Amino acid sequence: MYDLSACKFAPFSAFKMNEFLSCKYKFFLRYIEKEKPIEVFGSSLEKGRFIHHALEFYPDKPTPFKFSMLSESEQNEAFHSLKKIIGSDKIKRLLSYPKDSLEREFSFKIYDDWSLEKTETNKVLIKGDIDYYNRETNRIIDWKTGKIYPDKSVLQIKLYALYGILKSNQDFEASYYYVEHNEMYSEEYKADDLDNIKKYFSDIINTIESEKTFDKKINRLCEWCSYKHICKPFTMNIKGETHGKEMGSIST
Ligand code: SF4
Repeated sequence: MYDLSACKFAPFSAFKMNEFLSCKYKFFLRYIEKEKPIEVFGSSLEKGRFIHHALEFYPDKPTPFKFSMLSESEQNEAFHSLKKIIGSDKIKRLLSYPKDSLEREFSFKIYDDWSLEKTETNKVLIKGDIDYYNRETNRIIDWKTGKIYPDKSVLQIKLYALYGILKSNQDFEASYYYVEHNEMYSEEYKADDLDNIKKYFSDIINTIESEKTFDKKINRLCEWCSYKHICKPFTMNIKGETHGKEMGSIST
């Protein structure tokens, strides 16, 4: 049982935990100051949404995707990429399992008693979304579009493993599938790893809950940060006091 009584930030998600781990100041702005993010909505993001949308429904006919910002040539390029992706033998194999062994595009909740079932007393500790869950092979896949970064975050993969082991009580595999590159990154977990995975998440949650100083962490993704309009990472280097916390010191 995770003690949620003094928790300020539950329920958690992979996104929320990664926001903290990638830059505590960003986490501070979003979840403490409740500042409105300004999404940096690039064409590659829209192409990624289009490909996700198509994979969600494939091989059934997807509802039409409304492009808001891709030019005609970019749309053609996106369709061309999609054709290549769904033509790949690996994707065809993954999506050809009987429908009753696959679950796609769904949300889950993990409660503070580390169960998946709601009771009268438990509360949501972590929630998440899954692209592809195969009950026959005990595997979860997250479709990834765009570049393959060598420094992959495994937090999301561990969260899938946590869900998968809780659900199946068996060994489990969780993967990122970089669909535009036809490459898969996978981690395998034993059912016996469950306690270690719970500890991994408890430690992260405890760290977030006990944080006092929310430092900036200027990094290569600042350019796409939804708070760069407030943070101004490349022009500011100040220290100030906000809610009794020292803000704005820079760690790189
Ligand atoms: S712009 Fe960079 S340093 Fe500033 S909040 Fe975003 S990630 Fe953190």
